[in-house]
Amino acid sequence: MNKKGHVLNAVVLSIGLAVLTYPAGDLTTVRAVLAIAVPVTLGALFPDVDTAFGTHRKTFHNLPVLLLFFVYPIYFGNLQYVWIGVATHYALDLLGSKRGIALFYPFDSGEFDVPVGVSTRSRFAGGVILVVTALELAVAAALVTEYPRRLFEYGLRASGLF
Ligand SMILES: [Zn+2]
Repeated sequence: MNKKGHVLNAVVLSIGLAVLTYPAGDLTTVRAVLAIAVPVTLGALFPDVDTAFGTHRKTFHNLPVLLLFFVYPIYFGNLQYVWIGVATHYALDLLGSKRGIALFYPFDSGEFDVPVGVSTRSRFAGGVILVVTALELAVAAALVTEYPRRLFEYGLRASGLF
């Protein structure tokens, strides 16, 4: 996916996340959009830094880098939400291009891809951005609602544990 696609995905995803977490529609929602959109968008742009430093789709397109951005706020108290941008960049690169990414780099240089990816120049590239963003927001909506707890309780009852 190109930079424009990554930015569009990050901004729309951020707005959706802000509305999901602060649905009042007042100043708290606007503040949440700004608080989430800036780091998510920066995170969505970060992996392609490896076009200048390192090997593209390897050096900053892997799970160890994502883990680093996920735990960084725990230890240093900043860069919250950047990992979301990095993760959504990976999702778009997997689905919005024909080439894969090296998820386990530097341990394994093999590139992983999904067979449904489209070329970045494809007329379907915009549609892929919308579908990926919608799926990400659906997962986020499921996580912030009661569904995970209900599913867990249903699983416990179905298994006969409770
Ligand atoms: Zn990339």
